[in-house]
Amino acid sequence: MFLNMRSYSLIAPAKINLYLEIIGDRPDGYHELVMILQSIDLADKISVRAISDETIRVHCNHPQVPTDKTNLVYRAAELMATQFPEAWAKHGGVEITLEKNIPVAAGLAGGSTNAAAVLVGIDLLWNLGLTQTEIEELGATLGSDIPFCVAGGTAIATGRGEQLAPLPNLDHIYIVLAKYRSLEISTPWAYKTYRQEFGHTYIKTTEDLAARAAAVHSGGIVKAIVHKDAAEIAQKLHNDLERVVLPAHPQVMQLRELFATQPGVLGTMMSGSGPSVFAIIESEPQAQAVKQYIREAIPNEDLELFVTRTITHGIQIAS
Ligand code: ATP
Repeated sequence: MFLNMRSYSLIAPAKINLYLEIIGDRPDGYHELVMILQSIDLADKISVRAISDETIRVHCNHPQVPTDKTNLVYRAAELMATQFPEAWAKHGGVEITLEKNIPVAAGLAGGSTNAAAVLVGIDLLWNLGLTQTEIEELGATLGSDIPFCVAGGTAIATGRGEQLAPLPNLDHIYIVLAKYRSLEISTPWAYKTYRQEFGHTYIKTTEDLAARAAAVHSGGIVKAIVHKDAAEIAQKLHNDLERVVLPAHPQVMQLRELFATQPGVLGTMMSGSGPSVFAIIESEPQAQAVKQYIREAIPNEDLELFVTRTITHGIQIAS
């Protein structure tokens, strides 16, 4: 064993859902989805470092994030060790340090983007030369959102969310994002509740599922993305999971309503299974004003607020 001191720092952006439609059940227990995923410039910083003992160590600055095997980054490193045993034996263990800025359990794919960064980082650390598709395929075995997080940008996702088709890049659309720190929504709970209440509407045949996905692809929101028309995109935002999360969490509903009344807000929606709520805003000064307004309207320390914007990339090496 030789001591390898190489390390990489990576930027791991969060995502929001511009669109989330649940169209069917899957035999594997997941759902058939059509989603439009968008990277934003709210990001975690992840470093991966080769260490001399054959272990995986995780450090994190966020008290709610586990550093044991339940952390998705641990599982990503373990997957790489299993898939590439010779590289693992040659390079030794991996130390992973997470600097979290993305709110946790927020519907922003925080864990998924961290795992994507670790796959990219270990590929570099071990000189594996994997293609983006190979990294995405590895990621898909750990979680449905991970493949998107690798390349990021704007994409339409089908299947359980892992089948991606890129859409034209959206850059510099301003977003205000709000999340109650202590409110966590379990993604399985949101989908299970949706199935109980609305499962009767699911599409049953493979042909009809494909037709529905194609209809979204050729529909209004994708046209608005092609035209880079923020106002039109904002009008076409959609998230089926709001139907179960908003009635169960009035404070999330209140955020949605407050956002909607503000000047400059073009549209507002919950991201993923929540509880993050975002608003698309015309300009950065208006985004700052909306953030300030919400801060004053809800003077609760528990409420985290961010001004962010859409970006065109996923995992990047930090400069
Ligand atoms: P998604 O949008 O993909 O559903 P999310 O943003 O709602 O994800 P995460 O931030 O990934 O949720 O956190 C979900 C749970 O996963 C948390 O309860 C947290 O303890 C656990 N977790 C495991 N690894 C991580 C990680 N690297 N970062 C954040 N949370 C993690």
